[in-house]
Amino acid sequence: MDSIFLKANAKINLSLDVLGKRDDGYHEVKMIMQSINLHDEVFMQITEDGIEVSCNKHWVPSGSGNIAYKAAELLMKKYGVKKGVKIKIIKNIPVAAGLAGGSADAAAVIKGINKLFSLNLSQKELMNLGKDIGADVPFCLKGGTVLSEGIGEMLTPTKPFQNVNILLVKPKISVSTPWVYKNLNIKNISERPDTEGILNAIKNEDIVYVAKNMKNVLETVTVNRYRVIQEIKNKLIKYGALGSIMSGSGPTVFGIFENKKKAYFAYEKVKNSRWQCFMTETLCEER
Ligand code: ATP
Repeated sequence: MDSIFLKANAKINLSLDVLGKRDDGYHEVKMIMQSINLHDEVFMQITEDGIEVSCNKHWVPSGSGNIAYKAAELLMKKYGVKKGVKIKIIKNIPVAAGLAGGSADAAAVIKGINKLFSLNLSQKELMNLGKDIGADVPFCLKGGTVLSEGIGEMLTPTKPFQNVNILLVKPKISVSTPWVYKNLNIKNISERPDTEGILNAIKNEDIVYVAKNMKNVLETVTVNRYRVIQEIKNKLIKYGALGSIMSGSGPTVFGIFENKKKAYFAYEKVKNSRWQCFMTETLCEER
């Protein structure tokens, strides 16, 4: 095999809680991560020498500034790979949107390097390497529905919450994750997600309970600064979503729908030139 094609799936957070800040500056989180079938396309080819990364969107760094480059470099150096690799990314996941697009690309590259150069590393070993690239990379390597705790490194898979209809809406703003965490006042969080209740509902396949109880405490920062986030949430509910929250550090908002027809109805109502809208579904873990 001298080339490979991989899908790099985005994620949403069905809940996101921040429990505290550690002395080393990291935040302790408790969140339910869910992969969705909105994906970037990653093509990788063995070359004689060096690492090349290109992307079809000019605002995403190519070369060594791309997280995919860092992932390839880490593995190739560590395992003494003598050849090079050319990586082409077709970006479909909105950038700096709370959907872990960069981490998804990095995870795809880690899997690709493992296969292309027959490194035969286990998923556990790959996840261990992935955490040095970014906090969301281990999850992206695993996929599916996962409870993430600690600083995001403790991952516990749950029963799959697959084939659930999701409408994503991203307003034309970019939100920096460090800015959100810097402005988060943990003492001011009055409403927290009932993570255990949501996990229980996932186990019981109770989509309505999950949708109605989803909560993201980072909205306490972003909704005040960007009113459009609340506006999108209100619209999704108005047009039939069972529940709607912001994903990650935003600004993407998503709604959960009972079926595709209802999701499409809302899509038609909310789509406009200022917002990017995607109809998608939740995925189970890749095997
Ligand atoms: P998260 O949900 O993990 O916080 P995000 O979806 O908010 O991530 P990304 O789309 O991963 O954010 O992008 C964050 C930053 O990383 C961007 O400013 C972008 O320039 C840079 N970046 C580097 N490589 C990539 C890549 N392959 N895809 C997207 N962004 C990349």
